[in-house]
Amino acid sequence: MPTRTQPAATAAPTATPTQRLDAIATLIHSCSAPDIDASYDLCAHGQPWPCPTTRAAWIARGLDSDQQIRTAIEAHSQRQTT
Ligand SMILES: [Zn+2]
Repeated sequence: MPTRTQPAATAAPTATPTQRLDAIATLIHSCSAPDIDASYDLCAHGQPWPCPTTRAAWIARGLDSDQQIRTAIEAHSQRQTT
């Protein structure tokens, strides 16, 4: 029987919701925030930020969307002032 290495991010159908979320979290990653102050709000996917991929990544990691958006805007405004 050949040995087949399973990718780390594979959730079996019998996996618990937590295991499935962990698998999703390893597969998808949030986009970096676009240039918010310049009214350029499309991410690398060409979708309004935060895009569905970014939101899904946050949800899978148990992160709060509002907090993540605030953090991104604050980080952006700090870059503008320095
Ligand atoms: Zn995106």
